[in-house]
Amino acid sequence: MNDSPMKASSDINSKSILPILGSDASAPNPASQTDSARMGGCGSMGGTIPASGKLFEPSRRLPSWLRREVPKGNGNQFTSELLKELKLETVCENAKCPNRMECYAQKTATFMILGNVCTRPCGFCAVSRGRPENLQDDEPERVAEASARLGLKHVVITSVTRDDLPDGGGEHFYRCILAVRERTGAAVEVLTPDFVRHRHGLDRVIEAAPEVFNHNMETVPRLYRRVRGPKSEYRWTLELLAHVKARNPAIKTKSGLMLGLGETREELLECLADLRRYHCDFLTLGQYLQPGPRYLPVVRYVPPEEFDELRQIAKSMGFRKVASGPFVRSSYHARDMAEDAPVA
Ligand code: SF4
Repeated sequence: MNDSPMKASSDINSKSILPILGSDASAPNPASQTDSARMGGCGSMGGTIPASGKLFEPSRRLPSWLRREVPKGNGNQFTSELLKELKLETVCENAKCPNRMECYAQKTATFMILGNVCTRPCGFCAVSRGRPENLQDDEPERVAEASARLGLKHVVITSVTRDDLPDGGGEHFYRCILAVRERTGAAVEVLTPDFVRHRHGLDRVIEAAPEVFNHNMETVPRLYRRVRGPKSEYRWTLELLAHVKARNPAIKTKSGLMLGLGETREELLECLADLRRYHCDFLTLGQYLQPGPRYLPVVRYVPPEEFDELRQIAKSMGFRKVASGPFVRSSYHARDMAEDAPVA
């Protein structure tokens, strides 16, 4: 990409390594985490909902701010059944997002296209990995059908990473965006893989002109390979966002980070500054939760007031919209962020 502005913080070395905002009284013992705190893919940072009806049980020693009541009633059933009927995958289910009862009850979901098996070994992600199946040619129409029946005005589409496809799945994204737009007239937000070896696939997604283009930073440069695997590149993530803007300035760009993976405050702020240098419009910050024993441990639970402070700092850096909080996920209240409405 030839429009890379300035220098990325990945080039800045020898920074002091301190936990974000002081000492870490809230740091958990990784062994105390359980499968009830599952986290998902592509920055969805999810968590399972135990049968007790509480999202996280107090006995599991998670901090009080991560306990949430499950919404009453079965308002989420309509969405679940529709998705089943149309044989659609969502990141909400596959990544075990803690917000899915709430989102489904509001008749919203984030569609996950290109199958439910990912070709990358990210250390934070609950989505299955391995050899993916063939593409389903009618998936764009089924996504459009579900969007119409849910009455969505803002449709969020994400995918697994498909390094095995010649274009990384760019053409399939393109078809999904067009199908949804044609059928519903809704705005479309994509949350894409990095297309690091398939840049023509990225250009195909941009050609479809989604209203919002999200690609998650996920973490700070020092932790990048550990969290996102050996194929991911911090600099490329920045360049991807700048490339989208350069190709189509009308597209709003968006990125997000999981907090609690061991990043320092200094590293985080440098990363946010990088995102602004690369013209990123929207930002999401949420708490990382460990999907299970074989995934990266949580180093720290970030208290809500610290998320509030980070929101203010990010806004002062020039992000047009910032959602920051323990349960914030890339697609949480995505429509509010894309429109001129207040966000969490
Ligand atoms: S926050 Fe996003 S991923 Fe989670 S349930 Fe809501 S729409 Fe799905």
